[in-house]
Amino acid sequence: MRRAFALVALGVALTAGLSALPAAQAATPVVAGGSADVQSAIDGIRALVPDVDARSGSSSDAVQAVRDAINPGSYTCPASTPLQDWLRGTLQGFTVQQLTAALILLQLDLVTWDARVNDAQVPTVYGPSGEFTIPVTHTFRDLGKFWDIDSNGIKLLPMHGSVLVDKARMTRVFEVVYGQSAANSASLADFVGQLVRSVPRFNGGDFPLFTFNSYATSAEEFGGRRVVMGDGVLAGYAAIGLGDVAPQAILAHEFGHQVQFADDLISDATTPEDSRRAELMADAFSAYFLSHARGEAMQTKRVNEFLGVYYNVGDCGFSSLSHHGTPAQRQRTGEWAYGVADSARPQGHILPSRTFGAMFDAELPTLVAPDAH
Ligand SMILES: [Zn+2]
Repeated sequence: MRRAFALVALGVALTAGLSALPAAQAATPVVAGGSADVQSAIDGIRALVPDVDARSGSSSDAVQAVRDAINPGSYTCPASTPLQDWLRGTLQGFTVQQLTAALILLQLDLVTWDARVNDAQVPTVYGPSGEFTIPVTHTFRDLGKFWDIDSNGIKLLPMHGSVLVDKARMTRVFEVVYGQSAANSASLADFVGQLVRSVPRFNGGDFPLFTFNSYATSAEEFGGRRVVMGDGVLAGYAAIGLGDVAPQAILAHEFGHQVQFADDLISDATTPEDSRRAELMADAFSAYFLSHARGEAMQTKRVNEFLGVYYNVGDCGFSSLSHHGTPAQRQRTGEWAYGVADSARPQGHILPSRTFGAMFDAELPTLVAPDAH
């Protein structure tokens, strides 16, 4: 996913002042984990961020999963994939109030923003238990050597949901992103911490829904060039049996966006077709690297596994600006890139990134033709 955030919220002070601090704050009950705790935290956040319920959040897969859980009739396409089934399964047994709590946290997009405005936690590890640290860091290093862009200065960061209960980090997010005063930001950080702690299943923030995301940001965006990998998305693919290939495939996709930024291969996406082209091109950069002899040199079986990764995240939101292409389009793109790598002569030659990008553009009409909309 490429998350080109609109930065309109930056520095824009919301109108809520200290006088707007809700009465509910004073009425917080002493019993932790109760529904009253959840409600008072929700009320406190809504008082200081009045538009929170209207925010779409950038973690669209996670947001959609919660909305589907609240309103099961809203889901449309596709009927299910193993990954989506797993994600929805994490929400089994939640009350509507708890789902609302999850939705508010996601719509504030706090974990995503944390990785933009704060430095990585030390030690810097990847995956809920650090189990993906080696594949993620090694693949990132390999990508920097593989592609011909200047990759110095691109920061790799994790997303851990536990940042939600880190008052200093959350306070900075509310100050920088939401333009809140220091005092309001501290209050909001407290409400967020209360909300997370009041729902035992949130596990202190280490709940996959909150980090079911990965993204890349450009030099012009706040925080500069970053590639960010969430614990939840890594855990999800591991849960469906793709833990040995998904970290590399997702990271290579996000790095593909860095190649696009560096080579000026994409403009700001303005239509679903622009977005689909950018995302399928990132898929192609990823698949080329994964299958190339000097990349990950994955064999056919492994390539098929990563095509499964792409199938899982292909979406059907044709009107969505973040449209990634259908599962079939993503699989065809991966197969095409695999073929380019496999037919490289001489073996071991790595195409210049701009050349590969031009080859992709020439192929794009074919890749999207059969089920183009
Ligand atoms: Zn992307």
